[in-house]
Amino acid sequence: MALARSYRYVEAWGMASGAERPVVFPRSTAELAEAFALARREGLRVTLRGGGNSYGDASLGARSLVVDCTRFARLLAFDATTGIVELEPGVTVRDLWRHTLPRGYWPRVVSGTSFPTLGGIAAANIHGKNNFAVGTVGDALLEFDLLAADGTLHTCSRARNADLFHAAIGGFGLLGAFTRLKLATKRVHSGELEVTTYAGKHLGELMDYVRAHVGDADYLVGWLDAFARGDTLGCGQIHHARYLAEGEDPRAEATLTLAHQEIGPNVAGFFPKAQLWRLVRFLNHDSGMRLLNRVRYWQGRLEGCLPPRRWTHNEFAFLLDSIPNWKWSYGRASGHGLIQFQPFVPDAAAAHVFGEILRRSQARGFVPYLAVLKRHRPDPFWLTHAVDGWSLALDYKVTPETRAALFAHCRALAELVLAAGGRFYFAKDLVLPAGVLERMFPAERLAAFAAQKRRLDPEGLLESDLWRRVAPSYCATPDESRRS
Ligand SMILES: Cc1cc2nc3c(=O)[nH]c(=O)nc-3n(C[C@H](O)[C@H](O)[C@H](O)COP(=O)(O)OP(=O)(O)OC[C@H]3O[C@@H](n4cnc5c(N)ncnc54)[C@H](O)[C@@H]3O)c2cc1C
Repeated sequence: MALARSYRYVEAWGMASGAERPVVFPRSTAELAEAFALARREGLRVTLRGGGNSYGDASLGARSLVVDCTRFARLLAFDATTGIVELEPGVTVRDLWRHTLPRGYWPRVVSGTSFPTLGGIAAANIHGKNNFAVGTVGDALLEFDLLAADGTLHTCSRARNADLFHAAIGGFGLLGAFTRLKLATKRVHSGELEVTTYAGKHLGELMDYVRAHVGDADYLVGWLDAFARGDTLGCGQIHHARYLAEGEDPRAEATLTLAHQEIGPNVAGFFPKAQLWRLVRFLNHDSGMRLLNRVRYWQGRLEGCLPPRRWTHNEFAFLLDSIPNWKWSYGRASGHGLIQFQPFVPDAAAAHVFGEILRRSQARGFVPYLAVLKRHRPDPFWLTHAVDGWSLALDYKVTPETRAALFAHCRALAELVLAAGGRFYFAKDLVLPAGVLERMFPAERLAAFAAQKRRLDPEGLLESDLWRRVAPSYCATPDESRRS
């Protein structure tokens, strides 16, 4: 049966970009190959898409057939003695943990939301709140099959096709489509983590706390109040979590169940969480968010005085998922939404650069409503965003009136980051201009990546709006390359 195609509005997770595009939903490697052939016949390019959870345009394609992999989603194998799992690319992080946790395993690396697919997280080489300790998801991947644009299938691991293994992880779907992934998960002895809250009066205190605990924490994440100024610039709280050792949770059998991980549908027993975004919408302006950030900070100070608490893995890992569709509080009309700007800065420069970013954002009147601090470590993937340093993920509200000035503001901040030897993470980007890649990575590495692209996709079938924006030369057909 021919692959059915429909026209749909395909948008960035942050809702600030999108377009009506033809979309197909392959369910197998053969159907993916058929999708490539269909695009070629119709003179379209191909953009691969997972769950669409990238804040920006990583899975948008203005001149593409969008190939949505969410229905190519079987869990193929799970070994309960090793925790090694084999899956198709459309399996979500949520499907994955719900399968492994009752069997005593948790994914080694997860993002702050559970809706991304395994294909999407491998393509972005995501990091978690434990990046400083375990690296990115690429570090947990053991092997994958990649379907190249010419229909050839490449099995890659650290021992086989190692170059392609390190280029495609974090390659944002430019080199081929993952069709099978094999990854290691972590043995856990409880369905809960022990979480300590630390409240810091300024950014320096938060960073000092993290530095002091990278050796004894399994997860560390900071939530900053980006409205705080002067001596309190960057104040906030750190959530510090550790796995429970074997025997530490006497109710382990019960806490590992899905029933225990379930987050109830109501707040305070009666208000439906599904409607919570409507309440948050009333606060979705500078004064409301200033208040919310203040309340959160004082809540952190209070929690900091209490003994550590136990949180379920689900609750701790995917805190933002507990308010369904919270992004809608930013407005659902055309041109409204949010962008995230997430610079990664080497350790020595991070405090200065982040302080400057917060100060300039306040001065310019673009204060991020959410600011998340993490510690990172380098990894071997060719286009990785992770550095031996820190990231600060900043959510900015977008409206049609502020869009141009906000994007220009972020591009100016990017100069600070790049000058300090920093990098950006393309899953979170909608603003960076062409040329950033050359400032983030050594020329030899980019040349090697471009050579893989020419080898696997000489006609330039695979592309996305992200790639056309930040590295247009990778998306040029041979004809276009000759003309330019
Ligand atoms: C609320 C929220 C919190 C987040 N927290 C984090 C976090 O803590 N850490 C972090 O690292 N990220 C985080 N993210 C970002 C998210 O994890 C990434 O954007 C991830 O890539 C999304 O996966 P997806 O399946 O939705 O893929 P999409 O967003 O649809 O696509 C992402 C990329 O994968 C490519 N792709 C998709 N499928 C395939 C395939 N089968 N083969 C090859 N390429 C493919 C696409 O072309 C695109 O380049 C967060 C996002 C949100 C919305």
